[in-house]
Amino acid sequence: MKTQSVTKRFKCADTETNCDWSATAKTKQDLIEKVMAHANKKHGMSLRKVKVAIKDE
Ligand SMILES: [Zn+2]
Repeated sequence: MKTQSVTKRFKCADTETNCDWSATAKTKQDLIEKVMAHANKKHGMSLRKVKVAIKDE
């Protein structure tokens, strides 16, 4: 059985921070929640910016 699901990845450094924090999740929604908890709190990053920086792995 193949369970090759796409992982979503966010790297803080892909935005204009010098932060080396990153996160992955199975779904975009999960990842957005994780990322916002970090990026919004630490960097005041907007949801829009977070979404743009999310990539498939
Ligand atoms: Zn960061």
